[in-house]
Amino acid sequence: MSNATTLIHSIPVDPLTGAVSVPIYQTSTFVQEAPGVNRGYDYARSGNPTRATLENLVATLENGKIGAAFGSGLAAIDAVVKLLQSGDEILAVDDIYGGAFRLFTQVYEKFGIKVNYVDCTNVNNVLDAITPATKLIWLETPTNPTLKISDIRAIANLAKAHSCWLCVDNTFATPALQQPLSLGADIVIHSATKYLGGHSDLIAGLVVTKEKELGEKIRFYQNATGAILGPFDSWLVIRGIETLHLRIKQHCQSAQQIAEFLETHPAVDKVYYPGLSSHHNHKIAKAQSKGFGGIVTFSLKNDTAQAAIQLATSTQYFKLAESLGGIKSLISHPATMTHKTIPEQKRIAAGVSNSLLRLSVGLEVAEDLIADLKQALDGILLSTQNKNFDTLTCA
Ligand SMILES: *Cc1c(COP(=O)(O)O)cnc(C)c1O
Repeated sequence: MSNATTLIHSIPVDPLTGAVSVPIYQTSTFVQEAPGVNRGYDYARSGNPTRATLENLVATLENGKIGAAFGSGLAAIDAVVKLLQSGDEILAVDDIYGGAFRLFTQVYEKFGIKVNYVDCTNVNNVLDAITPATKLIWLETPTNPTLKISDIRAIANLAKAHSCWLCVDNTFATPALQQPLSLGADIVIHSATKYLGGHSDLIAGLVVTKEKELGEKIRFYQNATGAILGPFDSWLVIRGIETLHLRIKQHCQSAQQIAEFLETHPAVDKVYYPGLSSHHNHKIAKAQSKGFGGIVTFSLKNDTAQAAIQLATSTQYFKLAESLGGIKSLISHPATMTHKTIPEQKRIAAGVSNSLLRLSVGLEVAEDLIADLKQALDGILLSTQNKNFDTLTCA
């Protein structure tokens, strides 16, 4: 399901009052008629009607059986890792979200879970890296910040053949563009903080499973470890999802225009956007998703952190900030922000060069955004001519 009509009508009208907006059940407990006799809810960690509406909605959106809402994207990822046992291995995409990398290596390795990081853009690399202990394959596609694309269906087939689960972090694409469960994945997770919430006003995470049994395990960990999403934030995510299709359509359209503009500007070196025919896996992106998303990444010919920082601080509409997926356009400099803790050589080898900049294209008028980038890029050309930059890196 990824059609706006069915989405809008799968958000129920309140059966009690007819309210068209989902009520916020701001309560911790529910009165019982007799011990164990209740109307489906007994304590709000185990279940809350507002959260349940969001959980059912995202399960429908992702074409899964069970949804579970968490206090952050990382709490959602954490619940999935809890399916594993000591001795199990995770095969993870090499340019995984930094927070997931930290969770895997600094929290779970000490409990005996090993993680292999693999370039998943080539399916053969995945096949080669699977071991008898591999229990979970962890994919992000597109990845952050260089928007690498992996073939979900091919990797799902490998996962099935080797009896492991495939989990796809679908934060960048959203179900409006890509439904990993329909392509064979077992689990989808989201940082709903990004496009699903859509307004940069909350932190939330979601897990959806293809099968009921696996979903019930996730629900067990959700209740047993308690990292639930509260009713008000659940309501905000529902409200965000109501306009998901419309927002994503505009994000994609503007991002494509901006990526094409960047390719023509003399200060720009490389542009990374799955919607460009120059993208390494453009064909796979086109085959498995309905659009290419709102994130555009590029590097400068003047490959210094100084030049990148000048650019990132001379845009008017693109605000310098981490995160993505909101209505306001954002710009970030991974080398000194999200990827600062990675040693320089390793960072550059992973494609995060000194001048790499990531845009989260918002909902402003595309022409205004292009004019904003143009004046900032022209400024870089001028500063380069005047030799304002030395060869300082990001040490
Ligand atoms: C932000 C993000 C996360 C983590 O989500 P939080 O809501 O910040 O905990 C996970 N994966 C991706 C791809 C993200 O962008």
